[in-house]
Amino acid sequence: MPKQIPTLVTVTSVRSLTPRMVRVTLAGDELRTFAYDGPDQLVRTFLPNATGELTLPVTTEWWPELTAMPEAIRPILRNYTVRRLDPVAAELDIDFVLHGADDGHAGPGSSWAEHARPGDKIGVLSDGAEYRPPADTAWQLLIGDESALPAVAAILEQAPAGQSFVVLLEVADEADELPLTMPPATTLRWVHRGSGPRNASALAVLRDLEFPPGTPYVWAAGESALATGVRRHLVNDRAVPKDHIYFCGYWRTSAT
Ligand SMILES: Cc1cc2nc3c(=O)[nH]c(=O)nc-3n(C[C@H](O)[C@H](O)[C@H](O)COP(=O)(O)OP(=O)(O)OC[C@H]3O[C@@H](n4cnc5c(N)ncnc54)[C@H](O)[C@@H]3O)c2cc1C
Repeated sequence: MPKQIPTLVTVTSVRSLTPRMVRVTLAGDELRTFAYDGPDQLVRTFLPNATGELTLPVTTEWWPELTAMPEAIRPILRNYTVRRLDPVAAELDIDFVLHGADDGHAGPGSSWAEHARPGDKIGVLSDGAEYRPPADTAWQLLIGDESALPAVAAILEQAPAGQSFVVLLEVADEADELPLTMPPATTLRWVHRGSGPRNASALAVLRDLEFPPGTPYVWAAGESALATGVRRHLVNDRAVPKDHIYFCGYWRTSAT
C-alpha cells in the first residue's frame, strides 16, 4: 500500500450504539480515495491535543513529522477500525468504546468520542488491514472484546458465502451486545464479564469449546492478555498452526 498522508475530516453525526459505544460518522472529500484493504482496516486518528488545537502532519513521512512537532501543537494519535467506508458519499464510520463509562478513566480517544459533535474536525489516515485467512482454512474462529467488535462485525458482514464461523465476544453485560449481520453457518457466543476480571470469561469458554473439524483461521484482538491468552491456548493445547492465527493487543488495561 502506498504511504498515505493524514486527511482532515468533519464529524457529521454521533450515534449511541450501546451504553459503552458510540458511532461517529466523518465526512471529507479525500475519503473518496481512502485505502481499504480489508474488514479490520486500521484507521489512525489524529485528535486535537489538550489545548484543543489540531495540527496535522502534511507528508507521507507523517510519523517523524509528528514526533518532531513541539508538544504544544502535536495531535494525539490513536488507532481505530474502519467500521464503514462509503467512498461515493465520502463518509467513514468509526465505533468508539467509551471506556470511561464504568471507571471514569477515559483516555483522549474515548473522551474525544464521548464529546464529539457535528462540525468537529480530526485527521484520519488509512494504515493497512490484517485479516487474511489462508486458502486451506476449514472454519474461522473470531475472538475479541468491545474494542474488536467493529472489526468482527465487518469480517462477518463481508464473509464469502459458505464460510463457517465460531464467534466469541466478551463484553461487560447484555446491554453491550450489538446486532451482527452474520453468514448462516455462524455460531455466536456473547460472554458477559459482569464485575468479574477482564478476559477470564472468554478464555474459560474458549478452553471448553468443542472445535469443528479441520484447521481453523483464528482472528483474536482486544485487551492484550486476551489476545496473547487465546494464542497460547490455541498453539499449546489445540495445535493450531501459528500461521493460521492473527492476534493483536488492541489496548492494555492499567488494572492489575
Ligand atoms: C488495530 C487496532 C484497531 C482498533 N480499533 C478500535 C475500534 O474500532 N474501536 C475502539 O474503541 N478501539 C479500538 N482500538 C483500541 C484503541 O486504540 C484503544 O482502546 C486506545 O487505548 C483508546 O485510546 P484512549 O485515548 O481512549 O485510551 P488510552 O489513553 O490509550 O488509555 C487510557 C485508559 O483507558 C484504558 N483503556 C484503553 N482502551 C480501553 C478499552 N478499549 N476498554 C477499556 N479500557 C481501555 C487504558 O487501560 C487506560 O487506563 C483499536 C486498536 C488497534 C491497535
